[in-house]
Amino acid sequence: MNKVVIIGGGISGLASAYFLSNKLEPGNITVVESSDRFGGTILDTSFGERRVETGPDSFITRIPSALELIDELGLSDHLISPATSSAYIYSRSKLHPIPAGTVFGAPSHFQRFLGNSLVSRSGQFRAALELIMGRAKIEGDTTVGSFCTKRWGREVTENLIDPLVGGIHAGNVYQLSLAECAPQYVDAARASRSVSQGLKHQMANYTSSGKPAFYSLNGGLSDLVDALAGVLKQRGVVLTTSCASSEILPQSSGYRITTQDGELDADGVICATPAHITASLMRPVSAKASELLATVDYASPIMTLLAYPDSAFPEPLHGSGVLIPRANRTLSTAITFASNKWPGWKTEGETILRVSAGRFGDTRVWDFSDEALVANLETEMAAILGTRTGSIRSEVFKWHKRIPQFKPFHAQLIQQIRENIPSSVELAGAPYIGVGIPACISSGAQAADRLYASLSSPR
Ligand SMILES: Cc1cc2nc3c(=O)[nH]c(=O)nc-3n(C[C@H](O)[C@H](O)[C@H](O)COP(=O)(O)OP(=O)(O)OC[C@H]3O[C@@H](n4cnc5c(N)ncnc54)[C@H](O)[C@@H]3O)c2cc1C
Repeated sequence: MNKVVIIGGGISGLASAYFLSNKLEPGNITVVESSDRFGGTILDTSFGERRVETGPDSFITRIPSALELIDELGLSDHLISPATSSAYIYSRSKLHPIPAGTVFGAPSHFQRFLGNSLVSRSGQFRAALELIMGRAKIEGDTTVGSFCTKRWGREVTENLIDPLVGGIHAGNVYQLSLAECAPQYVDAARASRSVSQGLKHQMANYTSSGKPAFYSLNGGLSDLVDALAGVLKQRGVVLTTSCASSEILPQSSGYRITTQDGELDADGVICATPAHITASLMRPVSAKASELLATVDYASPIMTLLAYPDSAFPEPLHGSGVLIPRANRTLSTAITFASNKWPGWKTEGETILRVSAGRFGDTRVWDFSDEALVANLETEMAAILGTRTGSIRSEVFKWHKRIPQFKPFHAQLIQQIRENIPSSVELAGAPYIGVGIPACISSGAQAADRLYASLSSPR
């Protein structure tokens, strides 16, 4: 009877356990989680009268795995979508609507794009030259920033593409992989002489499913974690919290996993921990894989919840929030108008902001005490949104090394890591398919399939 240990009880680890328990005897599956709760980065908190998310607040529907899992768990009736999706970009001390005629930040429809308030006239003219500059050469991989600067110029890259593409990864477009972080640009470049034209055709061929682009659950994303953990428990999967694992030791047959509660023997292992932790767990299994895993960099964002009296704003906030390009040098990188986006979080007379701060290569936020960070962010809110008072309530959540950075040729790095580990050890999580809840669920499903195939094949 094959035994499996899954290390890490975030969404990737729980999803791995769920898909594996469809195939293996659930009682032979153990999940070990170092903290005192499951969910990892998915966490909400009591903030005033409401529960408010401190990590992800929604997931994309373009990758169907999260919706499919939610359906299987019987939670589909609890789906909610953001009440508003229009957002702004902060530049030159002003808020600008995200320009029309863009796809993922890149200009695609110049009749709509030209005349926007964000990019200067010369910047718009430079971007329009893309239409006539000839086919983009894509050999291997490059950075998003280098590709976009060549195609649309520096201003579009830094004011528009950086906050959208860089923002998702809390990263720097001049370091992020084009192939991993903006594959739609690559597809457009392959399909058309002009990348903008290619993106325009992509949009014309896109048939909307009619579904909102983002969803959450009315009780918060922790309901997904709780439902998943509930089903696993019911099936008989062994779920252990406050049980950090420190090593995976290969045995003559299988593995011995050391944890703070003792040792567990298993025929197969899934590591669903961040890559820097997987690197140290994996060292006895493969020094080479461990060395490669340790090269995956991570961003460490800080999420601050700020409650303001409605009267603090010169006028009511419209839209879902503001993206802040790196060039502004602010601590904050994005502001979600949380009680606009999720009306269920609104308390009469109060506006809740979720302010993300810090990004890869800019770790100034980690030098502040919570009080000093809140004070600095309040000063930035005054400059960006015109708030006239400080917040009446605040909470700070620190996410140390939680968002992997995909450097050029990341896919090749992951391939090399896989080649250096035995097939009875699998990897799940954001570094392997992509950042975000749906990608993590897919990576859990793939890890479960691959491990099951490996354990079922004759040894
Ligand atoms: C601030 C923020 C906002 C985000 N917003 C969104 C969003 O809106 N939408 C979206 O889709 N995605 C968002 N993401 C990304 C998304 O949350 C993550 O990609 C996803 O939750 C990662 O899940 P995971 O299970 O792979 O990793 P994690 O959530 O990091 O879970 C890993 C788990 O492993 C445990 N662990 C670590 N070491 C050990 C050990 N030695 N032994 C045992 N267990 C261990 C940890 O305690 C943790 O529970 C956001 C991320 C952050 C940080």
